[in-house]
Amino acid sequence: YRHGEPSEVVVPTPNGEVIFGEGHDVVVVAGPCSVENETMIIETAQRVKAAGAKFLRGGAYKPRTSPYAFQGHGESALELLAAAKAATGLGIITEVMDAADLDKIAEVADVLQIGARNMQNFSLLKRVGAQPKPVLLKRGMSATIEEWLMAAEYILAAGNPNVILCERGIRTFDREYTRNTLDLAAIPVLRKLTHLPIMIDPSHGTGWAEFVPAMAKAAVAAGADALMIEVHPNPAKALSDGAQSLTPDQFDELMQTLQRPLVSL
Ligand code: PEP
Ligand code: MN
Repeated sequence: YRHGEPSEVVVPTPNGEVIFGEGHDVVVVAGPCSVENETMIIETAQRVKAAGAKFLRGGAYKPRTSPYAFQGHGESALELLAAAKAATGLGIITEVMDAADLDKIAEVADVLQIGARNMQNFSLLKRVGAQPKPVLLKRGMSATIEEWLMAAEYILAAGNPNVILCERGIRTFDREYTRNTLDLAAIPVLRKLTHLPIMIDPSHGTGWAEFVPAMAKAAVAAGADALMIEVHPNPAKALSDGAQSLTPDQFDELMQTLQRPLVSL
């Protein structure tokens, strides 16, 4: 998987080019789990931009465990993401669950997210590999690093070199205190095995907002190239993943901490 130089994934956004990769600034992607309405997505976009995020995340199509849970607003949420992009100039990252939706998602998204549950959906991987937008490939919740890298190979082999890997926590035995076990050791392991940029998602990785800042700082200290953080203006009322979402104020505080030297040796 390694071939000399680390990969740079260069993403044009209205606010300018953003570069993901080793040796570049840590890129922060922030926003709600789901796009819920115009007010909340615009407000969140403005707040995360002011705090230093370069991308807005937000789900339009949501891979929910229960078919009775909120499934995302679909196409109308894509329009709201477009409005948030126009209002702030932030790049947009949102999930593709079904190849049938890819073209309309790619009209607004600057990076296409493949979620943990679809990491080994090989037909979807081939499809995003055969189109030009960069792809954020989340680690499957029970995937080995080898399986994850082979999933990335499907995208690369189909012709798309712009893949970002995102560790989002794996299933272990504790479900009481953490939702998943965030595998931060994956950072140096991936650095050894692959040239691709590495993102860490401490929101899904822990499941609890109070644990997110510590894991975000640890990820940066361990060499992560990017972070994905869930932020919601009113987490208690969120339609999905409220417990793990930071408020805009909490996100701002975290960003200020990350901008200071983390450790003095
Ligand atoms: C998400 O990013 O909101 C999401 C559903 O993530 P994952 O696929 O990692 O569970
Ligand atoms: Mn989520």
